[in-house]
Amino acid sequence: MSGNLLELSDIHVSYGRAEVLHGISMSMKPGSIVTVIGANGAGKSTLLNAIMGIVPSSGTIVYDGAPVPRSVEGRVAAGLCLVPEKRELFATMSVEDNIELGGFLRNASERAETREEVYARFPRLAERRKQLAGTLSGGERQMLALGRALMSRPRLLLLDEPSLGLAPKIVIDILNIVSELRKTGVSILLVEQNARAALEIADEGYLVELGEVRLSGPASEMAVNPALMESYLGTH
Ligand code: ATP
Repeated sequence: MSGNLLELSDIHVSYGRAEVLHGISMSMKPGSIVTVIGANGAGKSTLLNAIMGIVPSSGTIVYDGAPVPRSVEGRVAAGLCLVPEKRELFATMSVEDNIELGGFLRNASERAETREEVYARFPRLAERRKQLAGTLSGGERQMLALGRALMSRPRLLLLDEPSLGLAPKIVIDILNIVSELRKTGVSILLVEQNARAALEIADEGYLVELGEVRLSGPASEMAVNPALMESYLGTH
C-alpha cells in the first residue's frame, strides 16, 4: 500500500486522432491539496475529465488503493466530484434546487444534514436560497458550484479553475474557502491558471505543458523555482 488517495500512471487521452495527454503520472496523499498549473490548452481540464471518467483514457487510475470504478456515477459514489470550469449551474433554477441536485446519490436525511452544513459554510447562499442561480454574481456562482459539489460528500474534489473570471479579491476568498475545505478532510486536486495563488495553498504542485508533466514537487519549492517564475508566476 502506497498510502496515496490517488495514483495516476501513464494516462493518455486522445480526441479523435489527436493525443492531448501523453502519459501523465501523478499521486496525491489523502487530505492534501495538489495543484496542476500550466498554460491554456496544456490539457489540465482533460486530465480532470479523465479522472472523473468523463473522457476515456488509457493507463491506470488507482483510487484509495483499488482501480477506480468504471462509470462516472460509480466514481461519484466512491467520493470523487468535479466542479467544472464552466460551473454548469442551472441558471433558471433556484440556489436551493441547484444545491439539492448535488445530493442525488444521497438519501433524504443525509441531504438535509449536508445542506445545513453547506449553508453554514456559505451564509451568502443561505441568504439567497430562493434566488435564481443565473442572477448570482461570479463569486456567488462559484460558491454555489462548490456547495453543490459538497452535497455529494466528496472525499476528493476536482476543481477546474475555480478563480476563472473572478475579481482578485474574490479569487482570494474562493481559494481561502478551498483551504478551509481541506481542513474538513476533503482532498483537493486544483487546476489553476493563477499559479502563484494556487501554490500558496497547495502541498504539492505539477506543471503540465503540452500534455506532459514538466515539473513537480512541493508547492513551496515550485513557488520559488526560477524557470516557473519567469513563465507562470510573474514577478512581484
Ligand atoms: P484551458 O485552461 O484553456 O481549459 P487546459 O489546460 O484545461 O486549457 P484542455 O481544455 O484540456 O486544456 O485542452 C487540451 C487540448 O485538447 C487543447 O488543444 C484542446 O483544444 C483540446 N480539446 C479539449 N477538448 C476537446 C474536445 N472535446 N475535442 C477535441 N479537442 C479537445
